[in-house]
Amino acid sequence: MIIELEGNREDSLRKISELAEKYGNTLERIQGRGPVDTLHVIGDPKGLAQHMEYLETIPGVGRVWRISSSYKNIARRVASEGQRSVMRESRIVEIPGPDGKVRRFGGEETVFIVGPDSVQTEEQVFEAGRKIAALADKLDIRHRVMLRAGAFKPRTRPTDFRGMGLDGIKLLDKVREETGIPYVSEVMDHTLVEELAEHLDCFQIGTRNAQDFKLLETVGDTGKPVILKRGFGNDAVEWFNAAEYIANRQNLNIMMCERGVKTMYCGNGYNRFTPDLNVITYAREQTVLPVIYDPSHAAGDDRLVVPNMLAALPYRPAALLVETIHEESFRSEQLCDAKQALAMDPLEHAIRAVMDFEKVILPHLSNAQHYFSHRPS
Ligand code: PEP
Ligand code: MN
Repeated sequence: MIIELEGNREDSLRKISELAEKYGNTLERIQGRGPVDTLHVIGDPKGLAQHMEYLETIPGVGRVWRISSSYKNIARRVASEGQRSVMRESRIVEIPGPDGKVRRFGGEETVFIVGPDSVQTEEQVFEAGRKIAALADKLDIRHRVMLRAGAFKPRTRPTDFRGMGLDGIKLLDKVREETGIPYVSEVMDHTLVEELAEHLDCFQIGTRNAQDFKLLETVGDTGKPVILKRGFGNDAVEWFNAAEYIANRQNLNIMMCERGVKTMYCGNGYNRFTPDLNVITYAREQTVLPVIYDPSHAAGDDRLVVPNMLAALPYRPAALLVETIHEESFRSEQLCDAKQALAMDPLEHAIRAVMDFEKVILPHLSNAQHYFSHRPS
């Protein structure tokens, strides 16, 4: 639900806030360009919706819009009436690091989320962190780099390496302390969410747990940033509704991550998953959330990761999530996703290519896109 309210109506704002609070909702006030602000009701709006008529009688209140979409808290289009559509602004998720830099997802620049599939040894994860930090400093993009590594691993076979668990998380804490770079790690079990929230900077909910509703809600309750991978059998709307489970708990720090879907072409020797690039644009248009892209899991092979990553650039992902390996000699020891891990040298070239894309190609792309946003309907 969206409530239009004239600015400087503090009394009215208080009345609306009290009523919203009664139903467990919070209000987010978005300053309008003109004299009217919009109040976004965050959380389940059913209770408050019973008072639509009353709300419209409060002094300074203009229109009250009910959002018809099933993913109300994250939908881009709030309402339409005749020719007029009410659209919400894109959201930016910010993750600060101990180095004093803030990683901004959904801003102008693409962020790089890089690191190994999983934490395996102390030496491995420290070396990975150091090399990534050195590369970030060399390219002067520290504010655009976040670390990743799994400590709790979803595996297809129960006897495979399933991660170091909490010990792995503690190692990642130390790597963050040394490098100053924040990190994201996967959570699979809702009973661990509270404890993990004390450690990591961002949760990841993986493709296999993308519809674990209890997990989504529990992560939502922490208010912490979360990367939600698309369930590999989910259509886009199922994915948006999974995100809505988090948003419904009044946590809008969500980043949507496309990582490839299962199709009839998967497993034919060249396609671990089929990357769905068009969905990046769709998710950005349909929701207000940053949309990121993981070129590693669809590729399944390190030689395909860079082309896969660069292919996604015109779709303007807010971040690229890339699995890396700190040292080629470690590949034979790596216990999960070894084949797709990108070495530091091609990673550097790929990042340089992204930066060149931003400088040289992006202005042309923006000019071409201008046509679509300005043509008469
Ligand atoms: C991962 O990021 O290592 C991972 C398990 O990803 P996904 O859930 O996309 O398979
Ligand atoms: Mn992986």
